[in-house]
Amino acid sequence: MKKTDIIICGGGLVGLPLGLAAAQGGLSVVVVDTLAQRQQLEAAFDGRVSALAYASVRMLTALGVWPHLEKHAQPIREILVTDGKADGPASPFSLHFDSQEVGAPSLGHIAENRYIRAALYAALPPNLILIAPATVTRLETTASGVIAHLSTGETIEAALAVAADGRDSRLRAAQGIGVIGWSYPQTGIVATVAHERPHHGVAYEHFLPSGPFAILPMTPASSSEAVGHNKTDRSSLVWTEKTDKAPAMLALNEADFNAEVARRFGPHLGATRVVGGRWSYPLRFHLARDFVRPRFALAGDCAHGVHPIAGQGLNLGLKDAAALAETLLDAARLGRDLGALDTLKRYERWRRFDSFALAASTDALNRLFSNDIAPLRHLRDLGLGIVDAIGPARRFFMRHAGGDVGKLPRLLKGEAA
Ligand SMILES: Cc1cc2nc3c(=O)[nH]c(=O)nc-3n(C[C@H](O)[C@H](O)[C@H](O)COP(=O)(O)OP(=O)(O)OC[C@H]3O[C@@H](n4cnc5c(N)ncnc54)[C@H](O)[C@@H]3O)c2cc1C
Repeated sequence: MKKTDIIICGGGLVGLPLGLAAAQGGLSVVVVDTLAQRQQLEAAFDGRVSALAYASVRMLTALGVWPHLEKHAQPIREILVTDGKADGPASPFSLHFDSQEVGAPSLGHIAENRYIRAALYAALPPNLILIAPATVTRLETTASGVIAHLSTGETIEAALAVAADGRDSRLRAAQGIGVIGWSYPQTGIVATVAHERPHHGVAYEHFLPSGPFAILPMTPASSSEAVGHNKTDRSSLVWTEKTDKAPAMLALNEADFNAEVARRFGPHLGATRVVGGRWSYPLRFHLARDFVRPRFALAGDCAHGVHPIAGQGLNLGLKDAAALAETLLDAARLGRDLGALDTLKRYERWRRFDSFALAASTDALNRLFSNDIAPLRHLRDLGLGIVDAIGPARRFFMRHAGGDVGKLPRLLKGEAA
């Protein structure tokens, strides 16, 4: 039987950074993922980009991941928020965030998930073993540790098992940890759109009655990736559509799908054309009732799922990874048991309330904006106008979007864990 300090079940966008942080701090780590690395890097596997808050960028820099990712990451210079109409393009811009106002070169970065994965793989240290493809089928807790049983027949003994196996986590359920949650009547449609005019690093969030319609600036396409218009300018589209209408939208032929996208984009980026595939994601809210058990902890989407309205799900998961790594490394320095419940409770106290606060506020934002009720429309337009007019309020929202609030783990400050 292999022995290690920590076994991480799930080597996704949260499991791998957690493994990296713990391994760089000197712990031995095994990460297991159901899917082979090659499969996770294929363009068709995940068409999404992630908006990485600047605190997350500091963490990826401290972990040595950023040098592998930087050239694929588009800085966000400005964010323009509008309240759109049921039919036709969005109303004139009503809220404007500018990185110059907070004296920062950017408000964060947009990177394709497949490049984030590739950068994480490139940074793996020798004391982290990645076993993929393999599934953790069962965890067996003993008096002195936890034994993970793998689909390959292997067993691995550790002081602690972390479930970073995503929102439908079987390992969370097997530990008897319930979730509070519900499905949104919305589906996230994702695609890449080539456009005639440059985006200048501006991200747009149009609040349409069916849900938010986000246009996120991407790095230019490489010459091998045709984007149309003989230009390389492109943005990622995250289009929240009512779930009963989404299948029909996704099934549209190319010309009709392009027409629907262009109508919602508005004219500011010139002619548009969808390139590559179309992806769709059912949207759900959930929060685990507990984040820890003896010798067991949850991180990332396994612990919480938030609406993508503010692009915060991964940022929240990276904060879990940073806080858990810091808690474990502090315990190890003091010679404490990594899997002891009092060690893990420190992590839970640190992360559960913050996760709840963010999940609840993104839920409230989605409910306030995803409708066409006239009094609510007037109220939210008034709210957007007020925030836009008051400098400190704008800067408050920019600090939140940048992940620079609350008790930050050392990694999110750019320091070693
Ligand atoms: C449309 C959309 C847009 C989004 N945009 C943003 C954004 O802009 N910014 C942002 O911060 N967040 C965003 N998010 C959220 C973000 O994508 C997720 O929060 C993030 O991917 C969660 O990562 P994870 O590692 O926790 O889970 P996952 O990515 O689900 O990874 C779980 C991993 O565990 C593996 N696994 C599962 N079970 C087992 C097992 N038993 N044994 C071994 N391995 C297992 C799986 O193969 C998988 O690789 C968005 C989400 C959606 C749906």
